[in-house]
Amino acid sequence: MNEQLKFLIELQTLDTCIMSIVERIDMIPRTLDQFKSPLQQANEVFQKSKTKLESLNKKKKEKDLQLDEMQDKIDKLKSRSSDIKTNKEYEAHLKEIQGFEAKMTKIEDEVLAIMEEIEAYEKDLREEEMEVRRAEDSFKEQEKVLAEEQKKLQAELEAEKATRSEYVSRIDEEHYTHYMNILKRLGDRAVAEARNEICLGCNTNIPPQLYNDIKKNVDLYHCFYCTRFLYYKDPLSSDKHTQESAPNP
Ligand SMILES: [Zn+2]
Repeated sequence: MNEQLKFLIELQTLDTCIMSIVERIDMIPRTLDQFKSPLQQANEVFQKSKTKLESLNKKKKEKDLQLDEMQDKIDKLKSRSSDIKTNKEYEAHLKEIQGFEAKMTKIEDEVLAIMEEIEAYEKDLREEEMEVRRAEDSFKEQEKVLAEEQKKLQAELEAEKATRSEYVSRIDEEHYTHYMNILKRLGDRAVAEARNEICLGCNTNIPPQLYNDIKKNVDLYHCFYCTRFLYYKDPLSSDKHTQESAPNP
């Protein structure tokens, strides 16, 4: 096989590997985001209960204050009892006290209902807080796992890049420039297998004469449509560099 072609095929295999590593590195923040949403949900539920509990406590405080005020009024009224002269006055006085007492009973019932609600919310809140902790732990664990994976991939990438420099140094500048131009333009690969008179890079037919020339693998040929470098892989050969994946349109 033409040596330049062999290097180009090797470079392509390496670049495909590099692209896959870069893709996996790029996926990491998105994967981590998926673990963020259960944490956010747990936090929302917890915050909602917390707000509700705060408002219930505030409501209870207000009612307690009302009760204190009424108790004050009742105490003041009772302290004036000795000043009352007539029965009529006494009746009115008693009625006023009873009025406040009835109101107090009503508020006390309300306070009891609020306290029951507070108790229920406090129980929920404890469970929800635990759920937040669990989601936090799971997120942190994932963050750790992914950070390690990123580190590993980054190291792999550096190693592959170093190997790539060696490959590039063996390829003629003219071929390398063409290789890079195709790669930038087409995004996936610059070298494609020619099989059954078809370029597997773009699925376009290759004229029979050109195909026969490509099959010899002694010179460099390009697909006239996608301009990728073309090579022929002997079906009987198990050369690892000439393994081609499914064709791209
Ligand atoms: Zn092509």
